[in-house]
Amino acid sequence: MIVMKTDATQEQIDQVIKEVKKYRLRVDVSKGRYKTVIGLIGDERKIPFAHFAALPGVKEAFGIEIRYKLISREYSKFSGETMERRIVKVGNIEIGGDEPIIIAGPCAVESKEQLFRIAEEVKKAGAHILRGGIFKPRSSVYSFQGLGGEGWEEAVGASQWLQKAGKMFDMPVVTEIRGEAQVDLVAEYADILQIGARNMYNQDLLTKVAKKKKPVLFKRHFGASIEEFLSFAEYIAAEGNKDIILCERGIIPIGKGKEYTRYTLDLAAVPAIQKETYLPIIVDPSHAMGRRDLIFNMSCAAIAAGASGLMVEVHYNPAEALVDGQQMITPDELKDVIDVCRRINKMTMPGRNKS
Ligand code: PEP
Ligand code: MN
Repeated sequence: MIVMKTDATQEQIDQVIKEVKKYRLRVDVSKGRYKTVIGLIGDERKIPFAHFAALPGVKEAFGIEIRYKLISREYSKFSGETMERRIVKVGNIEIGGDEPIIIAGPCAVESKEQLFRIAEEVKKAGAHILRGGIFKPRSSVYSFQGLGGEGWEEAVGASQWLQKAGKMFDMPVVTEIRGEAQVDLVAEYADILQIGARNMYNQDLLTKVAKKKKPVLFKRHFGASIEEFLSFAEYIAAEGNKDIILCERGIIPIGKGKEYTRYTLDLAAVPAIQKETYLPIIVDPSHAMGRRDLIFNMSCAAIAAGASGLMVEVHYNPAEALVDGQQMITPDELKDVIDVCRRINKMTMPGRNKS
């Protein structure tokens, strides 16, 4: 990391960047109110920091060990901008602001009628963003793979419905990109690009998705440590895209845990991650629990833990859903979740800001 002097000129900054590039590293230039910080992206061991510290306009130059530098609170502080939190803006929705943001919709887009009806009902319940899977990650090749699995025409059609439903009910839309071949299509129609838990480690996909310069909803793998989760989020930030919404969605349960819940919701990860990064983090109680009767409780707990929002699977008739029917709640139940979560957020926000 290279911290420039407060009176460093643009020429001096450019000179330092040019010098860094000689070592085949990339840079993240962060212009704060008072000074500019140049983050080095790549293997810093090649860098002679003493040489850089002596360049005109440089205040200090040193390596930092942290594997998720660009998204860390520590890094944001150096630019003189004490960045408490990053607000990811999508349309007029602010993720990471004072209000909990609710992403809701079906697990999978199954038909135009199903999607539009759910969109209308979740909007009425108070949801801000519409979700719906088109390319579903499934454990069995024999199950419904989402409309994306039926052919490219179906995938385009479903993407267009999603965009239209979002426009009609005034909600930005999010859907998962499961593979690199889907990046262009999804980025054309969706406002937020989701990387699913199973792809958290897929650095080529992360890089390709990040380059679209759209907000990324980045889900934690069920076997990933917090450090790994943040280290892979860094791949997105390293492409110059810091509009990242982290999502805790449960980790592998121990012992017989799996007989009770699909995953173990790691709510401690929420405040722990907030100590490390300024990025917003939301919680998906649906995939974590795998059963609808626990969604209300865990949604409340997630907001109390400090989550900036929730992602919840909703269907007007969960019994007829082709995927994840057992964990979907109804729009009426979603309304209860949202009403109570708003109140919990108001009550717990002041204490959270203090700690
Ligand atoms: C999803 O959100 O549709 C999904 C499949 O979740 P996860 O990647 O967390 O399993
Ligand atoms: Mn699902």
